[in-house]
Amino acid sequence: MAMRRKGDLPQKLCATCGRPFTWRKKWEKVWDDVRYCSKRCSGQRPKKPHS
Ligand SMILES: [Zn+2]
Repeated sequence: MAMRRKGDLPQKLCATCGRPFTWRKKWEKVWDDVRYCSKRCSGQRPKKPHS
């Protein structure tokens, strides 16, 4: 795959807002489990029934 952007850092799409976010140092141990771009998004759900 030709992924040569921003110093070859991997990217994912946020499960909540759908925006791409880039690998960060703080995620190096848990990158496989990271699904959200921020704490804010991790506290939300893509489909919320009723709040
Ligand atoms: Zn997000």
